[in-house]
Amino acid sequence: MKPTHIEHIGIAVTNLEESIEYYEKVLELKCYAIEEVKDQKVRTAFFQVGDTKIELLESTSEDGPIGKFVAKKGPGMHHIAFAVEDTNKALQDAENKGIKLIDKQSRKGAEGLSIGFLHPKSTNGVLTELCSKK
Ligand code: ZN
Repeated sequence: MKPTHIEHIGIAVTNLEESIEYYEKVLELKCYAIEEVKDQKVRTAFFQVGDTKIELLESTSEDGPIGKFVAKKGPGMHHIAFAVEDTNKALQDAENKGIKLIDKQSRKGAEGLSIGFLHPKSTNGVLTELCSKK
């Protein structure tokens, strides 16, 4: 699957607007998009840093994946996303190598990307996302 680069780093936050302020004022990055991903129960905000983006994730519901994560661990780093050629192929590839998957099939994520997650139990505790344009 060999990723081409780190597509983004996902960071769970409790207040999107307050967190955006930190990235804009202190790191002097510009938030270029705010998007709600309804099936993930999150609002996201994006910043570009070279080839990589920072994806802030604010839960819109306590029972969503980010809501549960924040309740358990507090805000902070949530996942790392690698850009691959084809998410479905990469998921299959990982499964063939004995990796536990969260998503057997890719689904639509923010920015229209095809995304799929590997289970942190198989990835040294790091929730790992694979994403591709197709
Ligand atoms: Zn992500």
